[in-house]
Amino acid sequence: PVEVTASPLRDSGTIEGAVVVFRDMTERQAIDRMKNEFVSVVSHELRTPLTSIRGTLGLLASGALGALHPRAQRMTGTALESSERLTRLINDILDLERLGTGTVPMELSDVEVAGLLRDAADQVGVLAAEAGLTIRVGEASSVVRGDRDRLLQTLLNLLSNAIKYSPPGAAIDVDAVEVGSLVEFRVTDRGRGIPADRLEQVFDRFQQVDSSDAREKGGTGLGLAISKTIIERLGGRIWAESDPGRRTSFHFTVPLAEVTEPAAGQEPVVL
Ligand code: ADP
Repeated sequence: PVEVTASPLRDSGTIEGAVVVFRDMTERQAIDRMKNEFVSVVSHELRTPLTSIRGTLGLLASGALGALHPRAQRMTGTALESSERLTRLINDILDLERLGTGTVPMELSDVEVAGLLRDAADQVGVLAAEAGLTIRVGEASSVVRGDRDRLLQTLLNLLSNAIKYSPPGAAIDVDAVEVGSLVEFRVTDRGRGIPADRLEQVFDRFQQVDSSDAREKGGTGLGLAISKTIIERLGGRIWAESDPGRRTSFHFTVPLAEVTEPAAGQEPVVL
């Protein structure tokens, strides 16, 4: 591929000639490839030493090697938390990179929505209960075509955000409705919300409504970027709606599974 740009060469008002630049875009593509490889190598090389740091800190913090001075105990706890956060960040960077470059395939199957919603709500149940929140799961009978683990990952991202930003005692709703040939999933909370001009940006990597959000809430700032990549790869769309302070909802669509033909050998009913 070649990119061509041209600009006139002037001499006191009259055009004397032109500069035409042909840029070989194979170079740009090679740079993109190198960048992706760099991210993946760095992430791998960081993971191994980090595993050892986490293991050591965990052992120290557990007291298995003897009781620590209270101050040392606190410091070890903080260091352990930081190393766990760094591990989440590296895993998310790797996941986003692999999803974006298509290195990981989507494993498609027919997925029952009711079971998917229930599993997602169960997995964040303890987290929600600790925050005094109730998760209400809507009824659903649809079947979608998608990658079950990746759909669950997306729902867990949205639910854990809803939990992080909900006031104590509030309810979070998760449900799904059929819209034409799609199923629209919805996760609704009654928290702080998102200003209208940030509704699209929150899906970009490392974008936060409040610059302290990721640090204070223990996130990585990549959850929504990962969710967006997953849903787009599954042929759907993801977006957010918010009436700040009242209700905020994240929506995504996934194609309905094809209705299966009657099994061979079964006589069609003739009326
Ligand atoms: P993080 O790891 O920071 O949660 P995400 O990509 O999941 O990263 O979210 C990006 C940002 O979007 C968050 O830092 C937060 O500012 C905002 N956000 C996401 N979900 C909600 C929500 N339910 N209510 C309010 N703000 C939200």
